[in-house]
Order: sequence, then C-alpha cells, then structure tokens
Amino acid sequence: MNDCIFCQIVANKIPNVTVYEDDVVKAFLDITQVTPGHTLVVPKRHVPDIFAYDTELASAVFERIPMIATAIKNSNPDIKGMNIMNNNGEVAYQSVFHSHIHLLPRYDDADDFSIHFGDHSADYDTAKLEAVAETIRHQLEVQ
Ligand code: AMP
Ligand code: ZN
Repeated sequence: MNDCIFCQIVANKIPNVTVYEDDVVKAFLDITQVTPGHTLVVPKRHVPDIFAYDTELASAVFERIPMIATAIKNSNPDIKGMNIMNNNGEVAYQSVFHSHIHLLPRYDDADDFSIHFGDHSADYDTAKLEAVAETIRHQLEVQ
C-alpha cells in the first residue's frame, strides 16, 4: 500500500465516512466540512491531478458527479446550490495529490465558503484574447 492518504481511504485502511462507492469512485465526507455535506469524490485508481486522467477515467468519474451532487442537494432542503471544485497543483490550493472533486453545498445563511473571481476584462481586447486562445488551440492540435 502506498502512503497516499486517499488510496488508504479507498482501501478503508483509515477511517472515512462514505456516502457512495462503486468500482470507479468513492465519495466520502471531507473532514473539514467547509459547509455541511461537503463531500469529496475520488477515482479509486490513483491519479495525482486532472492532467493525468485518460478519457476513459474522465468519462467514468465525471459522469457520476451529477448523481452524487443531486443526492446531496436532495438530502437537505436548506441546500440551495453547490460549488463543484477541483484543485490541481499547489498553486491552485491542491494539498492532497490524489485527484478529488469537492462538492460544496451552499446555504442561504452565510456559510463558510467564499471564492473570488477577479475582473481583468479591461486589460484585454479581442486581439489579445485571440492570441491567448491560439496558444491553447495549438496545444489541443498537438495532443
Ligand atoms: P485540496 O486542498 O483540494 O487538495 O483538498 C484536500 C481535502 O482533503 C481537504 O479539504 C481536506 O480537508 C481533505 N482531507 C484530508 N484528509 C482527509 C481525511 N482523512 N478524510 C477526509 N477528508 C480529508
Ligand atoms: Zn492515491
């Protein structure tokens, strides 16, 4: 057994509170409960981050997200919405390097989750956006 904490959770070697599992994923309550019902969905196969998924694993994992998200939402009438987050890399706040998707139920009353989207639209015109897009499109072509 490797020392990855989520591999150990998948193998039930360390305590976890599971809400759903099948052959592909395990969904368990995040220990910090940022908001009540905060759940992590992890592929059972160890992949460090989104960049390591193949299309088969991506389809299998992400097709299960709406089902689990809907069950969480329906579990509590106070849940009014949900943020779904997947952090990749330390710079993006990833702290456990076994890929996982956060399901963060949101409540009307102030809950303890916040996110900031800065607005830099004033720094871009269409030509500048096109230049950015072209570098990405090129990478998609060579993949
Ligand atoms: P991230 O920062 O996106 O890598 O998220 C890692 C998450 O894993 C954090 O929200 C932690 O609270 C959660 N976590 C770490 N260890 C455990 C554990 N043993 N059981 C449940 N959640 C955990
Ligand atoms: Zn792992």
